[in-house]
Amino acid sequence: MTTNATIAVLPGDGIGPEITAEARAVLELVAQHAGHSFSFSEHLIGGAAIDATGQPLPADTLAACRDAHAVLLGAVGGPKWDDPNAAIRPEQGLLGIRRELGLFANLRPVKAQPLFADSSPLKPERIAGVDMLIVRELTGGIYFGQPRGRERDSDGTGEERGFNTMVYSESEVRRIARLAFDAARKRRKLVTSVDKANVLDTSRLWRSVVSEVAGDYPDVTLEHQLVDSCAMRLITAANSFDVIVTGNMFGDILSDEASVITGSLGMLPSASLGVPSGDDALPRGLYEPIHGSAPDIAGRGIANPLATILSAAMLLRHSLGLAKEAAAVESAVDAALASGARTSDMLSTAESGSGQASQALSTHEMGALVCKELQQQL
Ligand code: NAD
Repeated sequence: MTTNATIAVLPGDGIGPEITAEARAVLELVAQHAGHSFSFSEHLIGGAAIDATGQPLPADTLAACRDAHAVLLGAVGGPKWDDPNAAIRPEQGLLGIRRELGLFANLRPVKAQPLFADSSPLKPERIAGVDMLIVRELTGGIYFGQPRGRERDSDGTGEERGFNTMVYSESEVRRIARLAFDAARKRRKLVTSVDKANVLDTSRLWRSVVSEVAGDYPDVTLEHQLVDSCAMRLITAANSFDVIVTGNMFGDILSDEASVITGSLGMLPSASLGVPSGDDALPRGLYEPIHGSAPDIAGRGIANPLATILSAAMLLRHSLGLAKEAAAVESAVDAALASGARTSDMLSTAESGSGQASQALSTHEMGALVCKELQQQL
C-alpha cells in the first residue's frame, strides 16, 4: 500500500544540516523503492532561526511542523548563542516545538553494539546484550508544574527561596504507561516503572496508576523500581532491562546515563511522540539524534550521520506505520558497520588500540553506503 506523507526537516545548527541531509536521502530512497510518496520541506530552528528571524521557533516553522506527519530534526545550539542569560536561546525552539505539538512521550532505544564494546566505560560483560527502550514522560512533572519560581522570604531574613512543583495527573500517567506496555508487547514483555514512591506522593500516584494499567496487559510483566536503585542497576545489570517507563526528570537523567554506557553517542536515535489522532491512530512525532550540534566538527563533513538515519527509521515505524521499511534501514546501518565502515568519531573510540588502521568515511560517504546497503534490503 502506498503511503503519502509530509515530512518537515529542521536541520538546525552545527552538524545538523550535514546529518539531516543524509537521513533525508535515506527516506527518499525508501519512498522511491517501496513505492511511497514523501514530500519534504526544510525550515529554520534554533540558532540559525534566531540569526535569520530573531526567534528560535519562527511561526512558519511551527505551522509546517503542525501540518506534517513527522518532523526530522538535526540539533540546535552552539557557542554563538550559548549565553545562559540571553533572553532568546536556541533550545527554546526545541522546548517550544515539543510543547506546541503536544509531544508527551520520549522514546530512546539503547542497544549495545559489540563493535563499540571497547569504548564503553563499562566492562564488556556488563554491556553485552544491552537492548532497552527508555520511555520518558515529556510534558509534565517537575519541569512544568506550577507554582514555580524564586521569592524573598517575608519573615525579615530576606533569604531567597527557589521552588518547583512535581505534579502528575492520573491521565498523564495512564497514557505514558499504555505507550510503554504497548511497546513492551512488541519486545521482551517486561516493563520497569521507575519512581521515588518511598518519598514522593506524586510517585505513589504514578505507581498505583501504572499498576492499574498493567491489568490490561496480562502478557507483560511489570516491576517497580526506585530511581536511585535503577541508576545503579543501569551500571551493574543494564542488560536486565527491556522497557523503562518514568517521569520527566527521572527520565532525563536516566536516559543520559543509559546513553553513555554503549560508548557510541553518534549512533543513538530518539523519538518524541504526540497523541495519535485521526482514523489511522498513528502519532505525530519529532525524530532526532540524542547528540548535540557538535560545533567542534561542524562544516567539516566528518560527522557521524547514523544516529539521525536511525531516527529516520523510527520516523518510518512510529509516525508512518512502515515497520518493514524501518527494519530495512536498521539492517542497512548494521550491514554498513559490519562491512567495516567507520566515521572518524568511531575510529577514535571503537578501534583505538585494536591496531586496525581503517580509513574514516565522510558524513556523505557513510550516508551513501547506508543507501547502497538499503537498496539490497528493499
Ligand atoms: P555534542 O553532543 O554536540 O558533542 C559532544 C562531543 O561528541 C563532541 O566532541 C562532538 O564532536 C561529538 N559528537 C556529537 N555528535 C557527533 C556526531 N554525530 N558525529 C561525530 N561526533 C559527534 O554535545 P555538546 O558539545 O555538549 O553540545 C554542543 C551544542 O549542542 C551545545 O550548544 C548544546 O547546547 C547543544 N545540544 C543540543 C542538543 C539538541 O539539539 N537536542 C542536545 C545536546 C546538546
